[in-house]
Amino acid sequence: MNYSSIYQKLIKAYSLFPKYFLDGYGLWPIQVYVEVTYRCNLECEFCQFGGQRAPTDNELSADELREGLREVGRGAIISFTGGEPFVKRGFMGLLEGVSTRNRTHIFTNGTFITDDVAGRLVKLGARNIFDKGLVLIGVSLEGLEETHNTIVKRADAFQRTISALRSLVRHKRGKGKKFPLIEIKAVISEKNINEIYPLSLLAKEVGADIFNPMTMSTIPHESRTLDTYPSIFNPPPPVRGVETGLLKEQLDRIRNESNGIQIRTTPQGISFEEILRYYENRFSLKGYTCYFPWHGLGVSARGDVLVCPYIKIGNLREGGLRELFNNQKAREFRRRLKRHRIFPGCLGCCNLIR
Ligand code: SF4
Ligand code: SF4
Repeated sequence: MNYSSIYQKLIKAYSLFPKYFLDGYGLWPIQVYVEVTYRCNLECEFCQFGGQRAPTDNELSADELREGLREVGRGAIISFTGGEPFVKRGFMGLLEGVSTRNRTHIFTNGTFITDDVAGRLVKLGARNIFDKGLVLIGVSLEGLEETHNTIVKRADAFQRTISALRSLVRHKRGKGKKFPLIEIKAVISEKNINEIYPLSLLAKEVGADIFNPMTMSTIPHESRTLDTYPSIFNPPPPVRGVETGLLKEQLDRIRNESNGIQIRTTPQGISFEEILRYYENRFSLKGYTCYFPWHGLGVSARGDVLVCPYIKIGNLREGGLRELFNNQKAREFRRRLKRHRIFPGCLGCCNLIR
């Protein structure tokens, strides 16, 4: 079953009524992204946060985050990301606490997932897609061993991540659990262009459920660490091109020689042809829109609350999520988005939707 596409339809349906009838108001967020820290133990070339050099000043503690997230309704899914979430002191306790009331999802590079941690994560697995608990673990894997270690600049990273994946799969099989689903994510770049298809084979071999070849987003992230918000009316910088003939070959092999693993793409659901256009800097936003501000919120490591990577509506230290979600800034932005349908700055955002 393609849960991703079902989920997309649900959030679109949930957002349509407030978008067209509630004049800037949203019902209540059902998808919350939480960036727990910007620090990471790796140093990916394309990381916008700075990996090991990312600042940690003024970050909310795990306890503060847990307190702030208590206001999120039980039906919502909460995604934890970073930086690397497991670098954050108290992260595992935060995840365990939140997973007792909400569906949860984590993005990680996997290098901190020892066999013991893998067992704890699988124990958190939801019984079904509508149940509370951990539903998805997204693990970054940027290439085969040499390429991955070069991109993330750490000699033992690949081995650690593969070992984490194998532990997760072993624990899941041992307990006969479907959830958490395991997704392997690879950001397409000139360094791994020849390894996208082999990565899909590796994903299947280690027992992952989903393989996700992702486009490299160039949307500026300095809002999270420098407090400067670029204009959404300007397109993000062009993506560094790749040899699209080679990329096409790789994507065609995934399409034609499918090995049974579920394929997702980022931005959500874009076709392989659009991925090629994106890397030729010819991607068109025609036909796309965004519903995120009507159903979602982002919380930065410093507690800033966002309805879009470009738009801060407040800070968790100033007020609760319930109060902030429909404040004046949020309502104004939703009205603008409804009027414009999409902005030049949306190019490459993972919340784009048709
Ligand atoms: S794993 Fe993610 S957070 Fe860490 S350096 Fe790479 S891109 Fe940045
Ligand atoms: S698609 Fe555009 S409006 Fe929507 S969250 Fe992304 S950048 Fe913001």
